Parts: sequence; C-alpha cells; structure tokens
Amino acid sequence: MKQIFVLLVCLLWQGLAFAQVDTVQRVQSDRYNSPAQQEKPYVILISADGFRYDYADKYDAQFLKSKRAEGIEAESMLPAFPSKTFPNHYSIVTGLYPASHGLINNYFYDPQRKEHYTMRDRSKVEDGSWYGGTPLWVLAEQQQMVAASFFWVGSEAPIQGILPTYHYQYSEVMPIERRIQTVVDWLNLPAEKRPHLITFYLPEVDHAGHRYGPDAPQTRQAVEELDKHMQLLTEAVANTGLPVNYVFVSDHGMLQVDTENTLPMPAAIDTAKFMVSGGGMVVELHAKDKKAIKPTYRKLKKEAKEYQVYTRKKMPKHLHYSAKDDKYGRVGDILLLSDAPKVFHFSSRPPSPGQHGYDATKVKEMHAVFYAWGPAFKKGIKIETFENVDVYPLIAEILGLPYTFKIDGSRHLIEKVLP
Ligand code: AMP
Ligand code: ZN
Ligand code: ZN
Repeated sequence: MKQIFVLLVCLLWQGLAFAQVDTVQRVQSDRYNSPAQQEKPYVILISADGFRYDYADKYDAQFLKSKRAEGIEAESMLPAFPSKTFPNHYSIVTGLYPASHGLINNYFYDPQRKEHYTMRDRSKVEDGSWYGGTPLWVLAEQQQMVAASFFWVGSEAPIQGILPTYHYQYSEVMPIERRIQTVVDWLNLPAEKRPHLITFYLPEVDHAGHRYGPDAPQTRQAVEELDKHMQLLTEAVANTGLPVNYVFVSDHGMLQVDTENTLPMPAAIDTAKFMVSGGGMVVELHAKDKKAIKPTYRKLKKEAKEYQVYTRKKMPKHLHYSAKDDKYGRVGDILLLSDAPKVFHFSSRPPSPGQHGYDATKVKEMHAVFYAWGPAFKKGIKIETFENVDVYPLIAEILGLPYTFKIDGSRHLIEKVLP
C-alpha cells in the first residue's frame, strides 16, 4: 500500500514538473525575410554541451568524424574564462568575452542591481536586461533575416527588445525526434518565413560527464547517442535540398576532479563581510564594505594552498576577467581560482566527479570542439586551436550580416575556413 502511495506521489510530481514546462513554440508572427535575405545560405549552429575537444576520437563518433573530414576540423576551440555553460554559449553568439557581455558565470551577483542571476531562475534567464552584446539572431532579425532557436543561452530573452522569430523555452523533456522534425518543418516553410540561422543545443554529454566523469562508459554512450542524433538531423535536413551549413561546437570540456580532498571555505573569509558566490573552481567575493578587501586578500594570500588568489584589478590579463574588462561591474572584488584537479566544495551533497570551469589555457581538458561543413566551407581542412569569440564573425560572414560595433572576436578564422 505504502509503495503504491509513493509511486502515485512520484507520478503526480513528474506530471507537475512537466506541466510547468512550456513546450509550445513561441513565434513572433510579424517577421519576414526581405527579398535579399531569401537568397542567403543557411546555418545551423549546434552545441553539444560539455563535448570535450577529443571526445569524437576518444569515443569513435563515426558520423561526426566523417563530417569534419568533409569540411573543417579544428584541433580544439578555446573557451573563455570561466569555462562554464552560460558565459561560453553567450560568448559564441556575441563574439564577446564574458566580462564584456555580462554573463560572467552560470550564477553571479550584480552589486549595482543588488541581485543574483542564476541559470535556474526563469525570470532571470528570460529577462533581456541581463544580457549585453548583439547575439547573432538579433543581428539577423535587425537586418530582416528570420532566425530560429531550439535552445541557446539568451534566446528566451528579448535582447535589445528582440527575440528570434521562432524559439522554445528551455526544457529537457522534449524528445529529440520532435526537435529534429521541428528544424525540418522550419526549413520547409515558404521562403519569406524560413529561418536562415538556427541554433540547436544538446545537453546530454555534459550531464553524463558530470555524473560519471569524462572517462566513464556512460559518457561514451552519451557521445555515441549524440553522434546518432547528429546523423538523424543531418539526413532529415538533407531532404529539404537547401544549401545548409553546419557549425558543430561545444562550450567547454570536462575533467575528472579530485572528489576525495576538496577545498573548504578558507578560514580567512568572514561571510559577514563578503557576499560569496560560485564554488567549484572559481569563488567570487563581493565586499559589503570595500575596507575589508585588503586585509582579507592578505590573509588569503598567506593561507592559500592549492588555489590562487587575485583581486579584480590583478586578475591575469589573458583571462579577460579583470576590473578593466568588467563592463557590468559583476566580477568579484577577490577571486579564488582552484588548481586543477582541485575544486572548492561548500555543500553537503557529494561533489560531481566530472567538472569544468578552469582556465582553459592551462587545462587542456577544458578545450571545446569545433567542426564545420557545408557548401560555404573549404573541404578537408585542419586548423589550429582558436578562441570561441571568433565564431561570431564567421557566421555573420557566411550569412552576409554586416555590423559596425566592436567585438572581442577576430576575422582570423574566416580567412582559414572560407574559400
Ligand atoms: P554547467 O554544466 O553547470 O555549466 O551547466 C549546464 C546546464 O545548463 C545544463 O545542464 C542545462 O540544464 C543548463 N541549460 C542550458 N541551456 C539552458 C537554458 N537556455 N536555460 C536554462 N538552463 C539551461
Ligand atoms: Zn556546459
Ligand atoms: Zn557542465
């Protein structure tokens, strides 16, 4: 009897969780491609979250290997610091480093707003005022080119007042077959309503990597399944006969961390004096009173073992995360960066065996993936590692979308991969 009751409660709970997710497509019905944009090619930008730069070879992802051989294969793609999901997805679509676009982490504190942003809070995720820069879909829509998103960080928020013509609220309950069919349906729309830029996002490889670690059989299986889904998507899209280009990326890699000896909250931190945010490999301290910064910094420097301590002003230049880079004033006054494979761990739950967030210039396992193929690209080219902020100018170039504002990305990638 008790078991039946528990089962019923579980089913009801699941049902409620499902009901809270809006799985209906959100459409901006007043959007059309201008006649000039209707002549442009198509780009599907796909992100496989947490797909480490070496996974396709490590786990023999045959379909992806065959596609990269037809087009472009990068040695790896360098994520911005910190190598977390929200900052990096948003860097890829804005060409800006996290401190210049404002999403400096998945969770962070904004001292001016006196508010926390968290990726788990829909009201924040869908509030455009948190997001700087001009995402690719905004750039497209501003130039009368229709864009669609089957998930991407930022795509659910009106940024500069603009949403993609078609998008969905983020949810992990939608079956992949339905998501692929939606992409095909978009590409079968009449030319004036058909999106030329589509973003697509797959979370499963990151989930497996966190839960089981990058070397686990479950992570292999997640990569194999993703490879199959990529094949299904590509074959279904090929039936439309449209000149579609694929840009396959990830946001960061994954490292097996030390879960036995994690780093506790350093004794030098008085939580009455500092707002502490983050954990894992980056801890940010926001002083409630600026006078507390110097003495605490000194104490931490003395105490620090297996982590580095910086003030916002003295953050290493190559991280683009210092006071000078910090456009929205969201970077902490003091930052603690753990040495790989060490992690800070403040909660009572056990730490995940797989994690990411480290400085990718120091930890190769943080590197992301970049493959691209389709009519716009050179064929059978291998290129060196480059920064993910360079993807923005590349996609804007393929779609013929000019812009005059300054970004952090460069045009080097364009010269290497486009004929
Ligand atoms: P992490 O690996 O901790 O950096 O975070 C990855 C998580 O971000 C994934 O597990 C997804 O559940 C979540 N995620 C990705 N895109 C979105 C989105 N648009 N809205 C909310 N959560 C998202
Ligand atoms: Zn991620
Ligand atoms: Zn992750």
